Amino acid sequence: MKTKIIILLTAFALFSCKVEKKDAKKEIETIVCTTGMLGDAVKNIVGSNMEVITLMGPGVDPHLYKATQGDLKSLTNADVIIYNGLHLEGKMGEVFEKLEKQKHIIVATAGLTEADYINNTEFQGAQDPHIWFDVALWTKAVQFIGAELALLSSDSVKKQIQMNTENYTNQLFQLNMDVVTQVSALDSTERILITAHDAFGYFGRAYNFEVRGLQGISTTSEYGLKDVSDLVNYIVENKIKAVFVESSVSEKSLQAVVEGCLQKYHQVRIGGQLFSDTMGEAGTPEGTYVGMVKHNVKTIVEGLK
Ligand SMILES: [Zn+2]
Repeated sequence: MKTKIIILLTAFALFSCKVEKKDAKKEIETIVCTTGMLGDAVKNIVGSNMEVITLMGPGVDPHLYKATQGDLKSLTNADVIIYNGLHLEGKMGEVFEKLEKQKHIIVATAGLTEADYINNTEFQGAQDPHIWFDVALWTKAVQFIGAELALLSSDSVKKQIQMNTENYTNQLFQLNMDVVTQVSALDSTERILITAHDAFGYFGRAYNFEVRGLQGISTTSEYGLKDVSDLVNYIVENKIKAVFVESSVSEKSLQAVVEGCLQKYHQVRIGGQLFSDTMGEAGTPEGTYVGMVKHNVKTIVEGLK
């Protein structure tokens, strides 16, 4: 009799345990993000509730980045993976495809609408991935990530995530207004932004700048002598005062443009370094998205004024 009761009790305990496991949401512990901008946004969203790992450090070019063995381990151990999409992480497509069935994956650009995107003329049907240069558009992506993470969390954590997302996006709304105010120091003829690669299309559309890059939307595309001479002619014709190097692209390419202008008796200078596809070192103001945007706008306005 005693044994029977024990067996029954054990069976009941096992059963109830099973039911409990199915009903309770397994809390997210680790999130892996690709770019620094995403890592920064997600840290602001989840606070100290979860561990956030960023794969691409300062100075790393996401277009060329290949996952290391260590990255693969982090990705396999992650509960959630967040990446930019629109082929920004062009060499990691296969890795994401493999993990798709086993992991929660959030594609940051998936919450945007067709009208939000800038179509890329280089590759037909592809869209420009550099959405973080339009602060309002980035805010929309951050809200999307916050909503997706909230869906994956228990009620108590969900509330925290929703609150954090609101606080952080309020900071971003303010940042966007600051950018608009600062660029108003430049008149329309001064608003021509020339950089190493075509990363600033969204910046141009949002804040009324003509933008040109020596290389295309992706740094994987080659540039030739003709691209250099076309850009030189454009700079000379428009009497442009400054061009800008980028944190994730070698300075060499733009040096050729500066020298080409000099040969045509037009002095153009390097107006400074912009943080394009990566942020600055951790612990510096530029090591956050907000700091990176502030640095870029200040450098652009001072360089072109
Ligand atoms: Zn880029």
